[in-house]
Amino acid sequence: VFDLPSIRLGRVFGIPIEVNASWLAIFVLVTYSLAQGVYPSIPAAHGSAWWVFAAAGAATSLLFFASILAHELCHSLVAKATGGNVDRITLFIFGGVAQIDEEPKTAGKEFLMAVAGPAASVVLAVVFFGGFFVTALVGAPWWVWEPLRYLAGINFTVGLFNLLPGFPLDGGRVLRSVLWGATGDLLKATRWAAGSGQAIGWAMVVAAVVAAARGSLDLIWFGIIGWFIASLAGQAYRQQVVRSGIAGVSVAQVMTPNPEYVSGELTLERLVAEHFVGGRHSRYPVMHDGTIVGVVSLSDVKRVHRAEWPFVATLDVTDKDMGSLVVSPDQPVEQTLARFGPDRPGMLLVVGEGRLVGVLTRSDVVHLIEVST
Ligand SMILES: [Zn+2]
Repeated sequence: VFDLPSIRLGRVFGIPIEVNASWLAIFVLVTYSLAQGVYPSIPAAHGSAWWVFAAAGAATSLLFFASILAHELCHSLVAKATGGNVDRITLFIFGGVAQIDEEPKTAGKEFLMAVAGPAASVVLAVVFFGGFFVTALVGAPWWVWEPLRYLAGINFTVGLFNLLPGFPLDGGRVLRSVLWGATGDLLKATRWAAGSGQAIGWAMVVAAVVAAARGSLDLIWFGIIGWFIASLAGQAYRQQVVRSGIAGVSVAQVMTPNPEYVSGELTLERLVAEHFVGGRHSRYPVMHDGTIVGVVSLSDVKRVHRAEWPFVATLDVTDKDMGSLVVSPDQPVEQTLARFGPDRPGMLLVVGEGRLVGVLTRSDVVHLIEVST
């Protein structure tokens, strides 16, 4: 799912908001089931034109989307307020994910960050229910109050479901923060919360299988989400083992110092011939006008047709997102882990006192993890 492209919608409170292409499937599915099944079955809607059902369904889906966004924004704003760095929010087929750069530093901060999302969903449920109540009371048409009632129900469900006490659900983070606060042992707290997450996930899978054996496919989606939760819970625990193993190691201790860099003016043809062919590296920092401006990798070059290599400058294909590329030498390595995702350049620029002092590559980090866990 994560391999599908994401579309950037813009920024809210400075946080980039993205929609993964897989989310469109959910939009179509929710709109269709509302317009075809849910709304036509209410007595007040009898006799409405098909396009009224379609428009009400689409509007409800969009507001549902906005509700999930509000849930993730609340997590993110609390994370920012307590010193975290929010990379972006991505909405995808299973809901939303706020990519937060580092784990909370204290149990109290993690607790606040975790409850913020479900609290937002429950507040939205109350607001939508109030809207439903008032509009129904004053005799507004069904396509005003019915979507509001539906949104109240779905937000309440999202809030409650996320409070189930298993990692990686919000409730699992709440559980972890409480155990962490009580025992002072983050690794043990994560093991328990992740174990509980696996139990919840597998219970959902079993429920779906039992229902399917009885001839009902209603719980298939529920089962898929359960499987997803169980596998994420296992992953979360393994990640915590890694984080605990490398705790206290700074970027300066594992970076490659005095890195080789390339000039932004080089044509792609010369870049490939002089640096990539037979070269030791598959990515380089790029220097332009006396400063480092980004990172270029072989895959950036390959996006340009080979016939154009003599005419395109390295600078034009360089990843210049310095905000996510630069780290400082005294930063702990564990804070950089989230920046080595599959869609990232695989190299961070270590800048100290305004100067490039080294690079931190994915293999530097993998090596560190291998020797310390
Ligand atoms: Zn949440």
